[in-house]
Amino acid sequence: MKYNKQTSKRDKNQRESNIPTKKQSFSNLNKVNNGVFVFTKSLTVGELAKELNINASDIIKKLFLQKKLVTINNYLDDETIGEICLEFGYDFKKQEIVNEEDFEKAEIQDKEEDLVERPAVVTIMGHVDHGKTTLIDAIRNSNLAAAEYGGISQEIGAYQKVINGKKITFIDTPGHEAFSAMRARGASVTDIVILVVAADDGVMPQTIEAIDHAKAANVPIIVAVNKMDVPGANPDKVLNGLMQHDVIAEKFGGDVLTCEISAKKKQNIDELLEDVLLQAEMLQLKANPKRYAIGTVLEAELDKGEGPKATLLVQNGTLFASDYVVVGTAYGKVRRMTNEHKQVIKEAGPGTPLSVIGLSEVPAAGDRFMAFPTEKQAKDIAEKRRLKKVEEERAKGNGVNSLDDLYSKINEGQLAQINIVLKADSTGSAEAVKASLEKLNNDQVKVNVIRSAAGAITESDILLAGASNAIIYGFNVRPSAMIRKKAEEEKVEIRLHRIIYALTEEMEDAIKGQMKKVEVEKVTGQAEVRNVFKVSKVGQIAGCMVTDGLIKSTNKVRILRDGAIIYEGEIESLKRFKDDAKEVKQGFECGIKIKNFNDISVGDIIEGYEMVEKDA
Ligand code: GDP
Repeated sequence: MKYNKQTSKRDKNQRESNIPTKKQSFSNLNKVNNGVFVFTKSLTVGELAKELNINASDIIKKLFLQKKLVTINNYLDDETIGEICLEFGYDFKKQEIVNEEDFEKAEIQDKEEDLVERPAVVTIMGHVDHGKTTLIDAIRNSNLAAAEYGGISQEIGAYQKVINGKKITFIDTPGHEAFSAMRARGASVTDIVILVVAADDGVMPQTIEAIDHAKAANVPIIVAVNKMDVPGANPDKVLNGLMQHDVIAEKFGGDVLTCEISAKKKQNIDELLEDVLLQAEMLQLKANPKRYAIGTVLEAELDKGEGPKATLLVQNGTLFASDYVVVGTAYGKVRRMTNEHKQVIKEAGPGTPLSVIGLSEVPAAGDRFMAFPTEKQAKDIAEKRRLKKVEEERAKGNGVNSLDDLYSKINEGQLAQINIVLKADSTGSAEAVKASLEKLNNDQVKVNVIRSAAGAITESDILLAGASNAIIYGFNVRPSAMIRKKAEEEKVEIRLHRIIYALTEEMEDAIKGQMKKVEVEKVTGQAEVRNVFKVSKVGQIAGCMVTDGLIKSTNKVRILRDGAIIYEGEIESLKRFKDDAKEVKQGFECGIKIKNFNDISVGDIIEGYEMVEKDA
């Protein structure tokens, strides 16, 4: 155990950074690597000769023969550098210099000797009802020693299996949306697609869609002809059908591996997995565990107890607990890493899916992440990315920054575009709300969701909304008092909802110019729970400090944990010391008993509000 720890520590310290530090300036990249001369800038004849280990006079001579007169100090253009490389037996490559904040674009080059085999990452696709979910279950449970994990259910949407001593990583989300959503964000995580086709049904529209997705992503397909146990199963019909879409089985002279299975009866699953290994071998998937981790967010949510929680796939390098990670515009220290069985792990190498907590915001699925050696570097890069995003959105701004504005624009007969920043309690609800909002688009109105993510409303949301004239919609999340103030300062409208229908109806009304007089809630104040007392027969009393505004005994309240609502109800009693109080102001302590709620904990925020009549 001790030995392992030491090895990990040594590896950790020896990791290579993905972004060159100032010391290792980019000019160091002008090097020959495996017979390829990689250059980032133009070079003089003398510099090039030195790098290629040839005489400058040979270059001058060669160019002279092409009637180009140069001296040792002349700079060469990219094309000439390329020509000279080829002439002297080197391949060449021009590498763009990438700013560190654009790390997604940085081309990582590993030395051949650092590369090791990595697990293949597999996604299962196919037409609805052809058996994707059943196959995922069959694979997950195949040769799993039941006792091994004591029946602990899988925690994250990806898992690894060991087949013949080799690992395969499966991404769980069946369906094409997840796959294409990732691709739309420029993320490619899948190495191999298993295409499930039911033998009693054949090639169907979504089968074709899956083929298109896989082809567009240049990912090889393995066909799982499923439901072979059903009488009338006709595998040849399936393979013939696929041939029309250029998926040609080995049996018919093509290069696509196929396997006849029954996911339901768990037949031939091992054979299918062996095909995956075979395909993986052909792809020669390799990565360098000795660098700081780079990878992609598979899914993310705001966990009520633990804050932002993300499932990551490490694609290159190794991630260690306590590494600093930048993802999207956020950064954070990895506080805890767990595998799919909820076991804490200390490190995660290439191809490993894992769950992490410790990020400052909930990232979006498909976001790339990168680990950095120091907190300062991670923080600086995250900050630069945030500013850049604000700039980009500012450029898109169009002057509608409240629902009232929206209506007046439409009234004036102009096409009104309304920008929306949407924060919700989970990625799923964010997607659902976004989809319903976008359905409202018509000739007069363009509803443009510029950010949609899970998590509490943060300062960066307000800055983004302010810069791009957007309205912030909070769905099942609440802003803290600090965030509310910030929003007021920046003149950003925050609207909060708990039902999708109410949210879209409000927007529809605004579009139609029918903003009605409605009861709206007005937050009176917030209190932070500092102590929790248990009183027999009464229940839990929260010892609080009013941190903003005032708390009234008549208030309705909601309990917030990490910005998400965990309970809504009423105040049963409000006390200052032993006496009942009508209201308690900011800066004062009080005891609050919430009606029918005994699950409060230190750090929770109690938000008091009342309903008032107002123009919406
Ligand atoms: P998905 O929509 O592709 O995820 O399909 P499901 O996995 O939900 O399967 C759809 C239906 O087909 C379910 O009723 C399954 O029990 C059934 N099914 C899946 N695989 C098999 C199989 O190998 N044989 C038979 N007979 N039924 C299957």
